[in-house]
Amino acid sequence: PVRVRFAPSPTGPLHIGGVRTALFNYLFAKKNGGTFYIRIEDTDQTRFVAEAEDYIFEALEWLGISPDETIGKNEKFGPYRQSERKGMYKEYAEQLINSGWAYYAFDSSEKLDELRKEAEANKNTFIYNHTIRETLDTSLKLSKEEIEKRVATGEHYVIRFKTPVNETLEINDLIRGTVKFDTNLLDDKVLFKSDGMPTYHLANIVDDHLMETSHVIRGEEWLPSVPLHYLLYKAFEWEAPEFAHLPLILKPVGNGKLSKRDGDKMGFPVFPLEWKTAEGTSMGYRENGFFPEAVVNFLALLGWNDGTEQELFSLEELIEKFDLGRIHKAGAKFDPEKNKWFNHKYLQKKEDETLANLFKIELDKKNVTTTLDITRVVSLVKERANFVTELWGLSDYFFVAPNEYDAKANKNWKDDTPELMQKVITELNTISNFTSLNIETLLKEWMTQNEIGMGKVMQPLRLSLVGALKGPHLFDIIEMIGKEETVRRIEKAIA
Ligand code: GLU
Repeated sequence: PVRVRFAPSPTGPLHIGGVRTALFNYLFAKKNGGTFYIRIEDTDQTRFVAEAEDYIFEALEWLGISPDETIGKNEKFGPYRQSERKGMYKEYAEQLINSGWAYYAFDSSEKLDELRKEAEANKNTFIYNHTIRETLDTSLKLSKEEIEKRVATGEHYVIRFKTPVNETLEINDLIRGTVKFDTNLLDDKVLFKSDGMPTYHLANIVDDHLMETSHVIRGEEWLPSVPLHYLLYKAFEWEAPEFAHLPLILKPVGNGKLSKRDGDKMGFPVFPLEWKTAEGTSMGYRENGFFPEAVVNFLALLGWNDGTEQELFSLEELIEKFDLGRIHKAGAKFDPEKNKWFNHKYLQKKEDETLANLFKIELDKKNVTTTLDITRVVSLVKERANFVTELWGLSDYFFVAPNEYDAKANKNWKDDTPELMQKVITELNTISNFTSLNIETLLKEWMTQNEIGMGKVMQPLRLSLVGALKGPHLFDIIEMIGKEETVRRIEKAIA
């Protein structure tokens, strides 16, 4: 059965790349009737950030992609927090020592620093591997008794993986195909430390195995870890899961990887939710007024498409159409403008009533009270909105009379305009059935009969009511604000 996981390290807020990894795992699980679980990888206590874990769960819940199994939910393979599994890893590290796949290394950090500096001086990078492991202070040249003695006396050690020499690994990746690795270029990674904590690599493999993970779907930055992971499965004589490495998410301009700094610099969020730190607050997609469906949609297209021109997908459709085989290898450009377009599309799809309820919250924040039909206002202006927060700027004149009139539009205001507007008032006052269509018919009739050009009336009228030459159908506006208010605004404009 398909069992996939999202395994974040709670070192800070989940950014958009992490969310995409979670989403792709979720889609793959749902598509295949499998299970999506979350495991918190918190073995590196030095980088631990307390609020990050809650943030991760809240973000995924907001997006509607919560896990089937995790901390506190269907804990079939729990605990799901690695720090709570701490006691389990040592025996696996020892198993590798006993089978000759790992060894103790007692080198002091001073010694390692010295070797690193030496290599640097020779313009090399220091690699702890087969070329030197026999010469260093490792258990490879010690007797069993000696090793036991040194470990028992509490000497500082790490357990390192003993990478095999002269092998070419050919590993299948579901997105990249066969990827080759030369084992001579790998270093002997640390698996376990004498403080009793496993490193990421050991804990990740042990847990993926124990939690019966079928596929590992994660970002491309983990591709270099694949040979080690593959060898660890081999060393344990476990079946390895399938691997799929998702393409990088690239910044909007240039070729680099998208970072938080790009967002800060260019003014778009890279986090799903707000994140507060001592240095300040980073607003997220939610706080910027994005709908979760829009975020899910644009994230799904970062590296995937269904082979057609279709761009709008509901979560259900994504589940139906998702296919790991259609994920590209090349990096996917992040496009903040396109993200707004997605939100625009989802806004148009919402019921006017739903939008009106959201807009009502904005109006309350501005202390705007009104007897107007907000749903109708929304239906008249939403076409131009990307966000609910933009509705006010598009409709404020419905609620408050303009105080200023767009100077550029004033060229339409002629000497005889006040006189003409006075006549419009007289006409309006004769209309009893004050509906948009009726007002339009009667005013136009009056203009035709009196041979008054449309532009001479319509533009100054719009300027008087709206303050600028913008907005929806003028007669809809007149009906909405009502006769009294219309007359009042015209009088104010010609005063
Ligand atoms: N804890 C790793 C991370 O922070 C997990 C990588 C993986 O999925 O193996 O992304």
